[in-house]
Amino acid sequence: MTQSTPLSLAGDYSPTCAECGKTASTSILKELGPDSYRWIFDSLGGGNGSGDVISREKAAIYARAFSEPYSAEAMRAADIHDGGGLCLECEKFYCGGHWGLDDSVCPQKHYRAHPDPFWMPPELAYGYLRQMSPDPEYWEQFGPPEDWR
Ligand SMILES: [Zn+2]
Ligand SMILES: [Zn+2]
Repeated sequence: MTQSTPLSLAGDYSPTCAECGKTASTSILKELGPDSYRWIFDSLGGGNGSGDVISREKAAIYARAFSEPYSAEAMRAADIHDGGGLCLECEKFYCGGHWGLDDSVCPQKHYRAHPDPFWMPPELAYGYLRQMSPDPEYWEQFGPPEDWR
């Protein structure tokens, strides 16, 4: 007997928004060879253009991250910069419209693993600024806006 061919992972895995059904991000796997796939990805935080050539092993990780049941764990394993629109707390995908105006809060008000590495939720930013500030009295005096507390 010849070795059985492993199942192809090729397919369109693009997830849709849990709120409105629009495409949340694009994730497509094309088979190039027995251990070679092209992964085409596009999301709010950017895409990889005409795609990256990846191993079957990596393709399986991406296929898992974009297949139901969606999970934060599978997305972390895939290590995709903005999670392709996945809320790591809801474990649901949302489109750009449902990530809010500044693309940072899901419909359930969870902060997003943000594409901008310097971005942080305001309450964290406040703590950080306080730590960095050479004049803590300033912060005592003026404090953060009400909704940061
Ligand atoms: Zn939506
Ligand atoms: Zn959420």
